[in-house]
Amino acid sequence: MQCHIGVAGPAPVSFQGGTYESLDAFIPRIGASATHFGVSLVRQLERMGKLTPATADAITRSRDKILSLQSLEGAGIPVPATVYNRGPMVHPGELVRAVGGPPVVIKVLEGTQGIGVVLCETQSAAESSIEAFRNLSRGVLVQEFVEESAGSDLRCIVVGSRVVAAMRRQAKAGEFRSNLHRGGSAEPIKLSREEKDIALKAAEAVGLRVAGVDILQSRRGPLVVEVNSSPGLEGIERATRLDVAGSIIRYVARMKR
Ligand code: ADP
Ligand code: MG
Repeated sequence: MQCHIGVAGPAPVSFQGGTYESLDAFIPRIGASATHFGVSLVRQLERMGKLTPATADAITRSRDKILSLQSLEGAGIPVPATVYNRGPMVHPGELVRAVGGPPVVIKVLEGTQGIGVVLCETQSAAESSIEAFRNLSRGVLVQEFVEESAGSDLRCIVVGSRVVAAMRRQAKAGEFRSNLHRGGSAEPIKLSREEKDIALKAAEAVGLRVAGVDILQSRRGPLVVEVNSSPGLEGIERATRLDVAGSIIRYVARMKR
């Protein structure tokens, strides 16, 4: 946020009087509130020939919940049944029925850290939530609720062609969202071969070389719910006692043009 980007004349990137010319590579860590500026800066650094494990295109894809589900499904990765709509032209009841009826999970397109994700147990609660959200945001996703995952999911950190750390996150009592920011707890876990393969393929499908892939364990096998481009490091390092940041830095240091 302390940089400015220049086009046609000014230095491409200025930062506290410097220009980043000597930079070889960088690791984007972009908060949800700064997505557009962050992505613009990443794109500028890419244009300057700097290396990054997360390109502007890949970050944009991962931050948009429907675009990332489209990319995942396109790569043959299992995801929960989902519909997307905005505006009042489709009856909300139709959206709920399209994913098999209640309970359903409603998500705003650009939500993060569990904010903007709501569980609706009845048809009428789902319909009023859809009506409330879809005009306020760029749209809503209505998704089947994977009840059997019981408030827990797997967070897998992919670095290059390896899963370097994985944890099971468990939502606090009375909550279905397992995000650590929503009070979830974490424990280290050993992934199955299938879960590992799906995590690697999911990161690749979104185009990220460093990613946090979230997997729900459903009755029909692992389902990917999200691929994060700036995954939190403190929670997973505390749970697994692994040096995840170090793995990322070593990977980026070996990247080739
Ligand atoms: P955010 O970007 O806000 O983290 P997610 O889509 O990752 O949004 O959802 C937040 C959490 O809610 C997930 O980590 C998971 O625990 C839970 N969750 C999300 N979608 C579903 C679903 N379809 N079924 C069951 N739980 C879900
Ligand atoms: Mg998430």
